[in-house]
Amino acid sequence: MALETKPTHFLQNIIREDLVEGRVSQLVTRFPPQPNGYLHIGHAKSICLNFGLAKTFGGCCHLRFDDTNPVKEEEEYVAAGIRDVSWLGFEWAGEVRYTSDNFAQLHQWAIQLIKDGKAYVCDLSPEQARAHRGTLTSVGTNSPYRERSVEENLALFDSMTQGEKEEGSCSLRAKINMASPNINLRDPVIYRIKKAPHHQTGNTWCVYPSYDFSHGQSDALEGISHSICTLEFEDHRPLYDWFIANLPVPVRPRQIEFARLRLNYTVVSKRKLKQLVDESYVDGWNDPRMPTLSGLRRRGVSPAAIRNFCDMIGVTRSDSVVDVGMLEFAIRDDLDKSAPRAMCVLEPLKIILTNYPVGQIEILSAPGHPNRDDLPARQLPFGGSLYIEREDFREQANKKYKRLVLGKKVRLRNAYVIQAESVEKNSAGEIIAVHCRVDLDTLGKDPVDGIKPKGVIHWVSTEQHIDCEVRLYDRLFNDPAPDAGDKNFLDYVNPDSLKVLSDCKGELSLVGAEEGCSYQFERNGYFCRDSKFGSAEKPVFNRVISLRDSWVKVQHK
Ligand code: ATP
Ligand code: MG
Repeated sequence: MALETKPTHFLQNIIREDLVEGRVSQLVTRFPPQPNGYLHIGHAKSICLNFGLAKTFGGCCHLRFDDTNPVKEEEEYVAAGIRDVSWLGFEWAGEVRYTSDNFAQLHQWAIQLIKDGKAYVCDLSPEQARAHRGTLTSVGTNSPYRERSVEENLALFDSMTQGEKEEGSCSLRAKINMASPNINLRDPVIYRIKKAPHHQTGNTWCVYPSYDFSHGQSDALEGISHSICTLEFEDHRPLYDWFIANLPVPVRPRQIEFARLRLNYTVVSKRKLKQLVDESYVDGWNDPRMPTLSGLRRRGVSPAAIRNFCDMIGVTRSDSVVDVGMLEFAIRDDLDKSAPRAMCVLEPLKIILTNYPVGQIEILSAPGHPNRDDLPARQLPFGGSLYIEREDFREQANKKYKRLVLGKKVRLRNAYVIQAESVEKNSAGEIIAVHCRVDLDTLGKDPVDGIKPKGVIHWVSTEQHIDCEVRLYDRLFNDPAPDAGDKNFLDYVNPDSLKVLSDCKGELSLVGAEEGCSYQFERNGYFCRDSKFGSAEKPVFNRVISLRDSWVKVQHK
């Protein structure tokens, strides 16, 4: 069936041909993160692609942690990666895999290369090795240790493996070609000494294979049919091919590269994201401003929105920068369909209805969602004193201001029309309450005197509401390309990316709001109960996203 569907990008084309022409019988892909940080929106593109292709073509996709560097890796990152991939909605075939599962085999293969005269132990220091490597315009120089005998190499590698050598004192290198135009082929290091415990293998090893030596072989050992990776690995492909040609691997995966996701106003590099965490620019990897999957989740973004975004951006081989507005569009589009509506006043101003019966509370009703009957209607207690948004009232205003003005009418959303009559101020001259008259004949209809209110504002009962805190987030960076060229991305962290409003008043339907469940606060945006801060009595809501894109306006003010 899948083979008949029309390919939507070049990778689908290639895979379909390989299947149709019988070059492979089943598609097997993998998502291979290095557990040295949390997964981010860039990884989501690779996850959706690899798992998506497997699904489209009835194949399977593995989840493998490429864990060759114990110094930078941690179990915490492994656990987070597993959680994030499942949260995105994907299921890997079999157990979670690790490159470290193959350490014994890789070590044997390293010995095999030595025996075949294709690898040698080199005593050059890392600096010396760099100097010998040459540049893009000049060839490298052979290491003085390149012609060591097989016996000597075997003994030295064994000594490295036994822990008898110091870290950095020597390494095992593939003997390929120091004059190759491709620097990756200039006798790359395949094993190095690292006297560090490993999160999966403990103290079993003190030599570890390089990423380049492990990656392709692990793909082959797992029976991966198509190794899909980002463009920077194109130059490594000849090296992977060399390993595969020189080792008795069970299958030859086909490597295909695609362009990584780059987003403006965002950094997608685990190293830089780690720096934001380590240097406390943000509140951890899952800070709602972070482009990590855990940050997006905590912010209130759904997996469906991320998957839709990945579909929207497509897959190509040309590097381009995606406008973060596209991600925001996908988030908004998803929430508009799914989020129940609610009213919440972020910066309250008290309204007193002078002609409403004292002590009376009536229950008004409002739809849970304008076009979803499956969501229950909301009950809104209405009484003689209410909160409205401070910015929804002015003593005087011109005609463009379609909210409450002294002497003018406005509709309270899902309720009556009111007219402002007088203000009450404190000794500092600040307005502390607005006295209004309510027209009780206006529920669901316009006033009989024919003067139509110009605007609609939201409100919450002063007596029956839930106190809450609201966190308004803006983009974490105030520059479209914070890490371009030699820029230091830390110089472009937006100092106004978080605004905390701690005296907000939510309608009663927000009592018991679940973590991860997003609401549309009418007129204010989409909000999601935070999983870290707040309590049942006073929850914290994160603004997932505003209702409309106000960014462009703000930038040009
Ligand atoms: P980072 O620079 O953030 O550390 P990485 O490529 O080193 O990224 P890995 O953990 O090695 O991160 O990546 C796992 C997989 O995700 C790889 O196949 C990689 O190509 C892919 N990937 C990483 N970043 C992106 C991105 N921005 N767009 C698409 N795919 C990505
Ligand atoms: Mg990396």
